[in-house]
Order: sequence, then C-alpha cells, then structure tokens
Amino acid sequence: MQEVAQISAGPQIGPNSIIQTIAAAREQYGDEAVAAWLRRTGRAHLLEAMPDHMLPESEFGALIDDLRQWLGISAAMQVLARSGDLTANYVATNRVPGFIRLLLPRLPVGFALRIFLPAIARHAWTFAGSGRFGYTLQPVWRLTLADSVEARGVQAREPVCAYYRAAFAGLLQRVVCDRLRVEEVKCRAMGAAQCEFRVSLSK
Ligand SMILES: [Zn+2]
Repeated sequence: MQEVAQISAGPQIGPNSIIQTIAAAREQYGDEAVAAWLRRTGRAHLLEAMPDHMLPESEFGALIDDLRQWLGISAAMQVLARSGDLTANYVATNRVPGFIRLLLPRLPVGFALRIFLPAIARHAWTFAGSGRFGYTLQPVWRLTLADSVEARGVQAREPVCAYYRAAFAGLLQRVVCDRLRVEEVKCRAMGAAQCEFRVSLSK
C-alpha cells in the first residue's frame, strides 16, 4: 500500500534540492535566522533531520516560494545559486564514476560533452522532477529545461533559475572542464516556452 501512496504523491525530486538550499541559506544568513524561518514556515522537522530519500517535488517548489517571500527574488537567487553548486559538488563527488572523472578532462571539450550530457539526461529526473531536461550540441552547446520547478508561478524580466544554472555549471566545470560557463538565456518566468542555458568556453 505504501508504494501506491508514493506513486499518487506525484513527481519526486532528490533530497539535495532541500538539503543544499538550507545549507546555503545557513552559510549566508546564519543558523539562527534559518532556524526561525524554518519554524515560521512549518518546517521545524528539518531542524531534527534532513531528508535522505526522494521527496515530492512540490516540497522544493514550496521551499523556493517561501525563500523568495523571505528574502526577495534576487537574494533568494544567491542562496539557490550556492545550493546548485553544492548539489553539483555532491553529484560530481558521489554519483559520477571515477573513470569518467579521469577520462573526460583529457578529451576535447565538445567530445566530452557528447559523452557526459546523455548521462545527465538519463539521471535528470532525480534533480528536475517533472521538469524535462534536454540538450543540443549543434550548432551551439545548449541545455534546455521544460517546466522548471524554479520558474513555476513566477514572472520576471530576467531568468530566475539560479539553482539549475549553478548546478549545470558546477557539474560541467568539475567533470568536463573548469573553463565551461553556463548562462540562462531564456526562462519560463519571462514567458519563454522553456528555459534555455547557453554553454560556452571562457578563454
Ligand atoms: Zn528558467
């Protein structure tokens, strides 16, 4: 019966989304302010224990909403960007096989991306929930995220998906090449059909 309940709970997302966002908020605002905020928003249980399993993605969406209400959108983006980078570090360290980390930095960057991006796509559900990850390599390197959890229910003049931008950048820099840069160039929050991230190589 438990399995049925899990399925009916809707799309799931990995626990790093919550764990690293709270870690990033603590770095930037201190333990006390974050504890008060968690209590105020009905998340006192996160002071006892962090989740260690997949969660309903709506919990990450609600956390982002509450973070924006607390800090305003641009300060919340600073927290979410740091959270994305912490998530990338966790994934690169714990989830990317050692031989891939040895091999890819030795290959031409375009070729390494050709190997690595399909692997990210296969695991996309763990970080994107019901958002849909995609990529192109020709004519430009580009990542796409349709129905980004981070862009739901928000309208903005600038892209808002700081968590995903930083997670993609952090992962590509750690695993493929530290000169790779990722910039969100279109965002659902700006009315685009899907979020798009341009990947480029800095000098
Ligand atoms: Zn976006």
